[in-house]
Amino acid sequence: MQIDITLSDVVRQLNQHGVEYASSAAFSRQLKEQHGKLPQLHGLFIYDVQGNWITTSGNYIPAKASNADREYFIWHQTHNEKGVHINHVIRSRSTGDLVIPVSVRLNDRAGKFAGVALATVKIDYFRQFYNYYILGERDVLGLILSDTSVVYIRPMPDSVINKSLSSSPLFKTVLKNSASGSATWRSALDGVERIYGYARLERYPLVVTAGYDREAIWHSWLTANLTDVILNLILLLMITIMGWFILRQVNANLRNQLELTLVRDELTTINHTLQAMALVDGLTGLANRRQFDAMLEQSLQRSHKSGEPLSLIMIDIDFFKRYNDTNGHVEGDNCLRKVGGILKGLPHRHTDLVARYGGEEFAIILPFTNSLDVKQFAERAVKAIHDAHIPHLSSELPDKVVTISAGCCTLIASGQQGEAERLKERADKALYKAKSNGRNRVEGLIQ
Ligand code: GH3
Ligand code: MG
Ligand code: MG
Repeated sequence: MQIDITLSDVVRQLNQHGVEYASSAAFSRQLKEQHGKLPQLHGLFIYDVQGNWITTSGNYIPAKASNADREYFIWHQTHNEKGVHINHVIRSRSTGDLVIPVSVRLNDRAGKFAGVALATVKIDYFRQFYNYYILGERDVLGLILSDTSVVYIRPMPDSVINKSLSSSPLFKTVLKNSASGSATWRSALDGVERIYGYARLERYPLVVTAGYDREAIWHSWLTANLTDVILNLILLLMITIMGWFILRQVNANLRNQLELTLVRDELTTINHTLQAMALVDGLTGLANRRQFDAMLEQSLQRSHKSGEPLSLIMIDIDFFKRYNDTNGHVEGDNCLRKVGGILKGLPHRHTDLVARYGGEEFAIILPFTNSLDVKQFAERAVKAIHDAHIPHLSSELPDKVVTISAGCCTLIASGQQGEAERLKERADKALYKAKSNGRNRVEGLIQ
């Protein structure tokens, strides 16, 4: 910007006094003064329409020197633009220094091309200026022309000056998205990955960048935070180990619970079976003695409460010892099963209970049944067994089939102790009577 102001001042004066004024001693003195004020300035130069040196802020003008071949001169010749033009870095013809040419077009009064005013800025100035910043070995500060060519990049060698960065992500993508900001990319010049801040200048065709070596940042971060990192890792490891233990525990618990559930289910099944076994006679599938006793007690209580009659039939297979002796115990068992099945199959109320009382004896509890009805039921039972015609060759009865005798008893329970025993005794007595009266019959007693 300082160079821009200086050149604008030059142009203003030459416009005012005419381009010829450039060769005056006063103007030359003025240039020298300006030069003294600006440390970054390498020199100020005025060229005429042919590119010949008119004057300079320096002390020396090369003989017959023409700058008509310089890029900036040709550019101003062909472009009638007023603003400053920043060019590619060149080596000064007067001192051999690397300089940035900043130039502006001079016009005569008619507005025609009349020469060029040039200010050259020392690259060394940037070299020094950038050295003020404390940067790492591979951190960079760069000044780049908008046309992608390098002006100066610290700390790279001068050989990178004027190289094109068109292949750099900076120009390929980053600047296209935003004129300024920060991004990470790999340098097109040395391949180092850096975190960059960048900005395209608004007033001049320049881009500035500052890049920090990513690896160095990472290393410095790691060194600064090593203790934290190690502590965190230890913590993470501990949490992982604890988590693993807890998971293992949870798994073990789940397995145990599953096993317990299975065992419980098994036990429940076994329990049900045991319950059933405890109440059912294994041979005939009828209610067993235990169920019979419990049911009889219940039925007595119900009869006592309701005042309804309760009947009991005791049944005994006739000459069963002989049956066994003749046919063997296995056949005897089969016969017991058949008799049980027939008794169970007789049509009766669902409240009735047919039980195997023991040995070859059966008992039937009939709640809400009076003495008449029970006798009829018992007679049906005796007939049903007889009519089943199960052969019994050693029977003393003429038909030579399996028969039964039955004794019935009916009561209305009074709720006294030992009533069940009395009822059974009475039914037994009736059964004894049926036996002694010739078997294959029913006898009844009313209490
Ligand atoms: P009665 O007509 O007087 O009743 O003569 P009985 O032979 O039937 O009477 P007794 O009490 O003398 O014999 C009963 C027989 O029943 C004795 C036994 O061999 C047989 N018995 C008892 N329980 C079973 C059993 O579970 N299976 C078999 N096969 N026989 C049994
Ligand atoms: Mg008997
Ligand atoms: Mg018998």
